[in-house]
Amino acid sequence: MSTMQRCAACRRSFRGRAQVRGQRYCAARACQRVRRKRWHRTKRRTDPDYHENQARAQAAWRDRHPDYWRVYRATHAHYTEANRAQQARRDAARHLAKSDAWTVELTVLSRT
Ligand SMILES: [Zn+2]
Repeated sequence: MSTMQRCAACRRSFRGRAQVRGQRYCAARACQRVRRKRWHRTKRRTDPDYHENQARAQAAWRDRHPDYWRVYRATHAHYTEANRAQQARRDAARHLAKSDAWTVELTVLSRT
């Protein structure tokens, strides 16, 4: 017998398949994508062999497609722009964190 559950991705209630134990995601394509993505992320983080294998496969793919990212960036200006803006924000946050640490250090030094 199946019971109604709430999807871990879209939060809508769904009736899980009786065959699948502990089903947490509904059958919607988008939710299944989320499920796979989360599984993959956890697997990469917790399984060193898997992580290593993925990294090697990606490096091999990059070697076989040396122009892929150059072409992608050239044809997807909005992606490149968004990336650049995001990196600038990360750099600024990092700089801020650094200067905070520096200020704390100076304060401690000036007290002694
Ligand atoms: Zn869902």
